[in-house]
Amino acid sequence: MSTDKKVRVRFAPSPTGGLHLGGVRTVLFNYLFAKSQGGEFILRIEDTDQTRYVPGAEEYILSCLAWCGLTPDESPTHGGPYGPYRQSERKDRYRDFAEQLIQSGHAYYAFDTPQELEAQRQLVPNFKYSHENRLQLRNSLSMDEQEVKELLAAGTPHVIRIKMPVGETVGFHDMIRGAVSFETSLVDDKVLMKADGMPTYHLAVVVDDYQMKITHAFRGEEWLPSAPVHLLLWEYLGWKDSMPEWAHFPLILKPDGNGKLSKRDGDRLGFPVYAMNWTDPKTGDLTKGFKELGFLPEAFVNMLALLGWNNGTDQEIFTLEELIREFSIDRISKAGAKFDFEKAKWFNHEWIKQSEDTRLLPMVKEVLESHQVDAPVDSYVAEVLALVKDRLTFVADFWEQASFFFTPPMQYDLEAIKKKWSEDKTNFFQAIIPALEAFEPWETEALEQYYKDAIQASGLKLGELMLPFRIMLVGGKFGPHVFDIAKLLGRDETIVRMKKGLAAILA
Ligand code: GLU
Repeated sequence: MSTDKKVRVRFAPSPTGGLHLGGVRTVLFNYLFAKSQGGEFILRIEDTDQTRYVPGAEEYILSCLAWCGLTPDESPTHGGPYGPYRQSERKDRYRDFAEQLIQSGHAYYAFDTPQELEAQRQLVPNFKYSHENRLQLRNSLSMDEQEVKELLAAGTPHVIRIKMPVGETVGFHDMIRGAVSFETSLVDDKVLMKADGMPTYHLAVVVDDYQMKITHAFRGEEWLPSAPVHLLLWEYLGWKDSMPEWAHFPLILKPDGNGKLSKRDGDRLGFPVYAMNWTDPKTGDLTKGFKELGFLPEAFVNMLALLGWNNGTDQEIFTLEELIREFSIDRISKAGAKFDFEKAKWFNHEWIKQSEDTRLLPMVKEVLESHQVDAPVDSYVAEVLALVKDRLTFVADFWEQASFFFTPPMQYDLEAIKKKWSEDKTNFFQAIIPALEAFEPWETEALEQYYKDAIQASGLKLGELMLPFRIMLVGGKFGPHVFDIAKLLGRDETIVRMKKGLAAILA
């Protein structure tokens, strides 16, 4: 086990499609651990499976990391002393280690063709290439040496498989789960080198973690079954003393807790599961992302951190700096974390509330532009934002909450007031409209005082005349304090809207 070394962790995705929020959480926990230990966070692209390679996926992963502010210290684009960081570019490094394993008796050549293996699968339910049947199959353990030499000399396509030992128990200490062990007899002889000359994930992950001096390998729980193969490879290659410490993160579960959250659950339940929009280059299918839905990266990251981790208090809102300060692997739970979209929205709402207006202003202006509103001066937009910020779950909600500050209401919710309308109310408005035309100063408190005094003088009830005023200015029963609205709209616009509103009520 590694001690006293500079902490180096890695996120090692295969570029096969969009980035699931579980993947981003793996990045985040890796990043937080590295940064909390003054260590380095490495991004390694595991692209040795050419059949699953998807163009654009690597760039997409990098964009997601950039959006979240989780910048790698070393990566294919950032470079670094242990490159290349794309496994396909390290191709030549793996074969020798596979050969070394053959020499030491821990691996063997297998010549079974894909057709032969397929025939076995048809014949034997749950076929596994293992110690139970390896001597009946076509490999360097079952064939005589001469034949193997000839096949190799003739360039016959073959793979190299690990020879799993029989009847051994291998184990390791998982930083989250504690002692974990496996019976080697139950594990199949995984392929280490493929017929196309590429290593498989199992060999490449061990060689690269060794060569890149990774001290801690953290990954999702779904990789736990691969651990016995990796453990043995560390041992057989003679690197056991350099083996990283491991932790397997708990799954992110469906909202009802029944199984792993999948992309399909998102489609079914109407929320995103990917960090950012992802368009499959083959089918053209778009899978929606948190970013495009209107999540702030701070909120997305904060929400992910709390899926399976807490700092032992009730605190829920954390900046990235706070997370780095507070993070510890010990506080990651073993149990899966249920994803709750309502809670995710709550995080966004809280983050919008506490974000500086200067951070939100450009986004709000984009919302206005998307509704064909020529954004007025920034100071006006900023004042509106200050009034409605607490009501936004997404920045795009700005339109629903505040469009009336930019375009007059097209419709009025008259039902709310018409039934209780009276001539006294008409008289009240007919008197106050001209009075407001001359009223000074046009300030929230002064307006409020003046309006309320006028109600009192009229003998009508306060409550009855507040809603009509709001509906004249806004069109509906919502929005911030009505005198703040009047103040911001300005005298002329307020008067125009009051006249128009009154006419609509009387029509
Ligand atoms: N390439 C694996 C993946 O796609 C990496 C697993 C690991 O971190 O060991 O997730």
